[in-house]
Amino acid sequence: MVCLLLVCRLMKKFFPASFLFYLLLVIGPGGDQVFGAAKHFPGVLTYRVRKGDSLWLIAHRYGVTVEELARVNKIEDPSLLREGRELRITMANYDYFDKHLQVKPKVKLRDWKYIVIHHSATDTGNSKRFDYFHRKIRHMPRGMAYHFVIGNGKGLGDGDIELGSRWTLQQPGGHVRQNKYNNIALGICLVGNSEKNLPTKKQIASLIDLVRYLQLKFSIPRGRVLGHREVPGERTKCPGRLFPLRSIRSKILP
Ligand SMILES: [Zn+2]
Repeated sequence: MVCLLLVCRLMKKFFPASFLFYLLLVIGPGGDQVFGAAKHFPGVLTYRVRKGDSLWLIAHRYGVTVEELARVNKIEDPSLLREGRELRITMANYDYFDKHLQVKPKVKLRDWKYIVIHHSATDTGNSKRFDYFHRKIRHMPRGMAYHFVIGNGKGLGDGDIELGSRWTLQQPGGHVRQNKYNNIALGICLVGNSEKNLPTKKQIASLIDLVRYLQLKFSIPRGRVLGHREVPGERTKCPGRLFPLRSIRSKILP
């Protein structure tokens, strides 16, 4: 991989950027840093209960709260935790996100005021493909317009979250028409077309967890978490007529 990057770097010196893109398309994945997706991790972990485990121990191990673990797994009596049971561990917890959503070293966090939710309006996708589209077709030099992408199992794992370089470098988004909002709004894109289909359950779960984390991190109230079409002055149907904005808003922080 290091060798490949070195070769690519040398090629870049002598060939135009478009050549590099086609080369990377031909050789397949591996060029994540070039395309902007710095990190990628599952939205939900599964844990099988072992002998001697307690809810507190498991919660402590994964940095989630006992209440959150019980809520997500619908556990009413924590003392009845059976060995072998599979538990869902979501990323609702702040520390878990804080560990995975690091920005690049020496990059200062921006003072984000809004979170704007989009759908990709495509059936499949991931940050690499969106980056290509935004860079090459829409001529955005900073590449992928969103800060985060949440996969639907087609092109990116169901509920998986990818970080765009606009997040890791804390750059303004390019996801709404008006730059006064791009400068202060984080953009999250769910892969899929919500004019035709609902987002998947895992996508919604990851979205809620991610939004809650970002709300805490940047003190963003519920009223500033908007679907793209709700941003004043934008003319769009995004994130699609089936997108459950109201239900999502009821599950995020006030
Ligand atoms: Zn949109």
